[in-house]
Amino acid sequence: MSKVILLADRRNDLPAPVAPPAPGQPALDLRARPLRDLRISVTDRCNFRCTYCMPREVFDADYTFMRHSDLLSFEEIARLAGVFTRLGVEKIRLTGGEPLLRKHLENLVGLLADVRTPAGQPLELTLTTNGSVLERKAADLKAAGLTRVTVSLDALDAAMFQDMSDSGFTPDDVLRGIDAAARAGLAPVKVNMVVRRGLNDAQILPMAERFRHSGHILRFIEYMDVGNTNGWNLTEVVPSQEVLARIGAVYPLAPVAADDMGRVAERWRYLDGGGEIGVISSVSHAFCGGCTRARLSPEGKLFLCLFAHQGYDLRAPLRDGASDDELAAILTGIWAGRGDNYSEQRGRHMADPARKVEMSYIGG
Ligand code: SAM
Ligand code: SF4
Ligand code: SF4
Repeated sequence: MSKVILLADRRNDLPAPVAPPAPGQPALDLRARPLRDLRISVTDRCNFRCTYCMPREVFDADYTFMRHSDLLSFEEIARLAGVFTRLGVEKIRLTGGEPLLRKHLENLVGLLADVRTPAGQPLELTLTTNGSVLERKAADLKAAGLTRVTVSLDALDAAMFQDMSDSGFTPDDVLRGIDAAARAGLAPVKVNMVVRRGLNDAQILPMAERFRHSGHILRFIEYMDVGNTNGWNLTEVVPSQEVLARIGAVYPLAPVAADDMGRVAERWRYLDGGGEIGVISSVSHAFCGGCTRARLSPEGKLFLCLFAHQGYDLRAPLRDGASDDELAAILTGIWAGRGDNYSEQRGRHMADPARKVEMSYIGG
């Protein structure tokens, strides 16, 4: 019996290892969904306190964040990324917390840029950031091999931005980050706006106007019931259809055909050539059937769904000396047992008081 099986038995928290797929074939889960995307959260810390993600009354001075020694090192992350490519991963997104708070993140980007798929292709390497320090980091990230960047921006109006982010930063700080990213070649820049009725929905049209003809792609995200701390309420969700109707009434829109499985945003284009927008409708129109994403936490736990209650500890086998083949078998075994479809059954889950993982820990 291999060392990994002994580990799995002893720890009793990893499913049985399964032989990885043949090169070029993706690992499939219980619903025949391939593993294509890996989101890697590099820190649980953030310099914002967005009310929908890290409300200040919970994430205050007494909150215990992870110790640096508990985090996966850049070398460990890059090694795992290499193993994940054997299961079909082609795209990696770095996230957090605020990923740019992790010191020298460009060094991790450099290591990941050297990873190749079994077909010898580099990975698509992206990053989601609040943009607060992007202006001074964009060029280094691009030089290290980052492909593109997604920047979160919930309002152009300074007071509304403050209400949403609860931070000392301004919309101009983020806009300068977006410009710097585009100048550095991290384009097209995607801009994510979480919409909350009564808080920032008055910014839908101004945001659309600001980013039309800019070359950036604005995406409207339905406010989700992630984590346990944001006091989520369905009445605050603005369904994507309403967002599209509000914009389309002023600037007519047409749908753009979906091009691949695993794409979360529905794409729309302005009929007058003003560019594209996207809507992410995880509440009003669940897309679990095409969910090809796994999520790695800062200390190396693998989560199979944004709404999962627990993750699988990969750091232990990694630090206990598992070989790449053994890690690939562990990962295949975990993915093979995945049946998650939380958003498709949201109503049923809402009554379930079990603790969900926080967005600031696992990333969006
Ligand atoms: N700090 C970075 C940022 O804000 O871009 C990366 C991490 S953040 C958790 C990733 C994305 O999740 C952001 O675009 C954020 O707006 C989104 N997000 C966080 N909480 C959310 C919620 N409750 N509903 C919908 N989106 C949310
Ligand atoms: Fe920080 Fe991003 Fe969460 Fe806002 S959404 S608190 S910027 S991790
Ligand atoms: Fe994927 Fe879970 Fe979201 Fe469904 S609810 S799309 S399975 S992350």
